[in-house]
Amino acid sequence: MIENTMLLPHKYLDPVEPMVIGECEGCKDNVHETDEHLEIDDVLLHDDTTCIAAYIREVAVRR
Ligand SMILES: [Zn+2]
Repeated sequence: MIENTMLLPHKYLDPVEPMVIGECEGCKDNVHETDEHLEIDDVLLHDDTTCIAAYIREVAVRR
């Protein structure tokens, strides 16, 4: 018997896009309400070392 892969179920868990709550100051991408994120005063960041590092490099002065 030949398996028909077209019959495998699609894995759409939630077709509705999560709400965007702001822009990440690190990667400049949208932060969705479902994303793990950090807030420092008015600054929004993904809870991701890449985003945090990008933000720190932007605001900090290298000595
Ligand atoms: Zn980010």
